Amino acid sequence: MSTNNSSVPASTRRLVAERANYACEYCLAEDVGSFIGFEVDHIISRKHRGSNDAINLAYACPDCNRSKGSDIASIDWENREIVRFYNPRTDIWAEHFRLAGGFIEPLTPIGKVTVDILRFNDKIRLPDRGIF
Ligand SMILES: [Zn+2]
Repeated sequence: MSTNNSSVPASTRRLVAERANYACEYCLAEDVGSFIGFEVDHIISRKHRGSNDAINLAYACPDCNRSKGSDIASIDWENREIVRFYNPRTDIWAEHFRLAGGFIEPLTPIGKVTVDILRFNDKIRLPDRGIF
């Protein structure tokens, strides 16, 4: 979560937004006509000593950013393992998720914990993807 956004220079924030084509790098929501501004997310949160460098930053919608908080991983209860979240800088979205009728389905354990914790498929978010 961007708990420390002010520490990221405006020029870097601009770069992050442009690099992401103004879409959330987690749930792919577009920053077009959103009433609340998108945010710059620390992929590894500042709490866990993640840097302010562009390589550790992702463009995120407020829903993803708020749900992620300062977390960096969760638990895959099927395998009883700690699994890190999807990293937009080093992972390929389509390897971990797929869009199915507006829902985002996980394809991997990384996808699963990310879908769960970032709450990609919360009812309130589905209209944005054409589901009512
Ligand atoms: Zn999002």
